[in-house]
Amino acid sequence: MSSDNENKPYIVINKKTIFTAALVMLVFAASFFAWNGNRSRKYDQTAFVMGTVFNVSLATNGEDPTPELINIGNELDKKVLSWRSESSEIAAINSSAGSVEGYELSEDMEALIVQCLKMSAQTDGAFDITVGALTKLWDIDGWASGENEADGAEFVPPSKEEIDEALNVCGYEKVKVEDHRIYLPYGMSLDLGAVGKGIYLDKCKDTFDNNVSGIVSAGGSILTCGKKPDGGKWNIGINDPFGTKDIYGSIEVDGEICVSTSGPYERFVTYEGVKYHHILDPHTGYPADTDLSSVTIVSQSGLISDALSTACFVLGEKGAYEIAEEYGAEIYTISNDGSEGGTITLRH
Ligand code: AMP
Ligand code: MG
Repeated sequence: MSSDNENKPYIVINKKTIFTAALVMLVFAASFFAWNGNRSRKYDQTAFVMGTVFNVSLATNGEDPTPELINIGNELDKKVLSWRSESSEIAAINSSAGSVEGYELSEDMEALIVQCLKMSAQTDGAFDITVGALTKLWDIDGWASGENEADGAEFVPPSKEEIDEALNVCGYEKVKVEDHRIYLPYGMSLDLGAVGKGIYLDKCKDTFDNNVSGIVSAGGSILTCGKKPDGGKWNIGINDPFGTKDIYGSIEVDGEICVSTSGPYERFVTYEGVKYHHILDPHTGYPADTDLSSVTIVSQSGLISDALSTACFVLGEKGAYEIAEEYGAEIYTISNDGSEGGTITLRH
């Protein structure tokens, strides 16, 4: 019996154990993509991109697509998304904050920012890409997840005064986009961390033809495409947010679909016994205090699945279901008490 018949998940959405997940995927995928009489060959590549592990595991009749797809991720990070990269568009936008002339946006960036601002309004600010001053203050990028360390030094949470100061330069409603230019108030900084992986998956989709099938995994966001050789559905493992087991269960998806999971267990630090996680409530400036421990969104759009998983986590159960329905997205949630909900049933 093949791994497929056993319905084992292809991959676990878990940044912490993503290396293990990639390895597991490699082993399972090997059996699915074995010679299928269609001259389709399987290609697999794992790389460290956008500060996390990407794995591309695809079968195709054509050329090996994996180098191009990894390259797309690196270029997207360097030239567009990363506020740390001096050559990126987001860094240029951020350094224009407070200027009268603003910054002239590329067509892609304008579409992306307009969509994000729309989603901020629709989620009542639960999702907000203007939280850059807060994410920098908390030093989220510098956290060595799960440990009480930030950039090698002991983590100390910011003071209420510092948070209030940062909150003053956050808020999607303070951004103006006009005549293809963006105007940010002085001190404001955009952070596309909540949507970067989803944007990448959308870019991957643009390169696929009908002959490609398999899985692209970018941190906590996954794209499936094409059919499995046996015609069955793809299985995506959902990580246990409580850390008691490796996989909480798995969901089945069909064809070209994006699956994104957000949860506090993905990135956190502890200080004096208190855990601080990486998904902030833009209204308070503190890590979101919610009734959810994990949110998974399934959507045809990578951007929407990634943005919504973050937003829904902040909104909590009730608001999450409403907004997922508005976007026609499927949702699966695990509450803090371990109860499950949403429109998707998990296979245990
Ligand atoms: P994700 O892991 O996709 O849920 O995104 C979390 C990342 O997005 C964080 O590491 C921050 O960089 C950024 N972020 C945190 N809170 C928010 C928020 N409420 N809205 C938008 N971006 C956020
Ligand atoms: Mg997200």
